Amino acid sequence: MVEHISPLPSVDSLLRAAETEVLLTRFGRTAVTATLRDILATRRAAHTFGDPAAAIIDEAADHLVRRFARSQRPVFNMTGTVLHTNLGRSPLPPEAAEAAAEALRNATNLEFDLATGRRGERDDHISGLLCELTGAEAATTVNNNAAAVMLVLNTLALGKEVPVSRGELIEIGGAFRVPDIMGRSGAILKEIGTTNRTHARDYAGAIGPQTGALMRVHQANYAIVGFTTSVPAATLSGIARDAGIPLIEDLGSGSLVDLERFGLPHEPTPRESLAAGADVVTFSGDKLLGGPQAGLIVGNKRVISAINCNPLKRALRLDKGRLAALEVVFRMYLDPDRLADRVPALRLLTRPESDIRATAKRIGAAIAMRWPDRDVAIEACRSQIGSGALPVDLLPSTAVAIGGKALEELAKFLRDLPRPVIGRIARGRLILDCRCLETGDETAFIAQLC
Ligand SMILES: *Cc1c(COP(=O)(O)O)cnc(C)c1O
Repeated sequence: MVEHISPLPSVDSLLRAAETEVLLTRFGRTAVTATLRDILATRRAAHTFGDPAAAIIDEAADHLVRRFARSQRPVFNMTGTVLHTNLGRSPLPPEAAEAAAEALRNATNLEFDLATGRRGERDDHISGLLCELTGAEAATTVNNNAAAVMLVLNTLALGKEVPVSRGELIEIGGAFRVPDIMGRSGAILKEIGTTNRTHARDYAGAIGPQTGALMRVHQANYAIVGFTTSVPAATLSGIARDAGIPLIEDLGSGSLVDLERFGLPHEPTPRESLAAGADVVTFSGDKLLGGPQAGLIVGNKRVISAINCNPLKRALRLDKGRLAALEVVFRMYLDPDRLADRVPALRLLTRPESDIRATAKRIGAAIAMRWPDRDVAIEACRSQIGSGALPVDLLPSTAVAIGGKALEELAKFLRDLPRPVIGRIARGRLILDCRCLETGDETAFIAQLC
């Protein structure tokens, strides 16, 4: 009998090897078999035959660990932008995250009225709170503020014109551009006024039988300064009322409390917009509000019930997890005195400078120890609020600034850590703004450097 000698071990023999057992338990037979096949095929193609079975199994383990590693994971946001859209905007209060997780793990009374035993409405869990916090008659929720704007326009102005000032035709970033959203909603944008000046007569002159609504868009991520005029909400609502059409206000971030009480610049609130006569106001859940991604719509009963009857509402609705988180965050707003402690977004934005500086000193020392050849400095910097909120107002903060060569490599090294560190390179240094590295996180930050 001629024995056939294969230059590579067979998949079967590798699967039977003692070292493979732990891989099978952890990753399952399908993935382990496929990975071993891939590795053997690569070796066959490259004519690399000499390795022992153990080396092949080791390589499979590496592949599998990488393939099963979670892609989305927590990072240290040291960019200096607190509500960073690319880093997930607001961190949730732990109580809100727990409520979301509990709702996701269980059956809930999401659309079930426990009092009557009949079908309920998912928005009922929070619309009362939202009305209380904004002074609105009615409220509803969708996936994000872009969806809110789209749904409001589609409900109130399908096939009709909506005059918007040329000073408010904003792009938020990504795919949110007012003219594009308007087009997709089925409303017809009618540009009025100029970039820097739009007058009441521009609105009045644009209104006709073809007009569905008037819309104001908060100048979220830019400022027009100098020779400027815009029409106050109260004047605009008068014009809309006289014409018998609704006034829509897209507030963007929108805050449920007056941020000035925390020493932050004023950001318009939905309560102010409604009081000034807006019929419907939209804003985000995960910007200054500090909650989960959501689009919040508040306004008068007639408009909100029309929105709830729009079939698009179903396509854009929130899931039970985010509704559970929102409910918890809204209740925190019932106690404004403790908000700045309990809502992380507000806590980070109002963090005392001395606190940030202390963090910068501690982690700066650890960085200097880890890279003794680099120039490491503690210096004043300015954080941005982010997500288009209060774009011209910067918050005094402290950064660790790292100099030296090969900064891109250093930045990459920090991004490759178990909990990636995201900074920014500016003027020949890697800048790590310490505002969002809270005292409790310092230990974890330093531990992974060693
Ligand atoms: C951020 C923003 C939006 C989009 O909100 P998302 O929650 O990101 O969908 C729309 N309009 C304005 C004015 C904004 O600032």
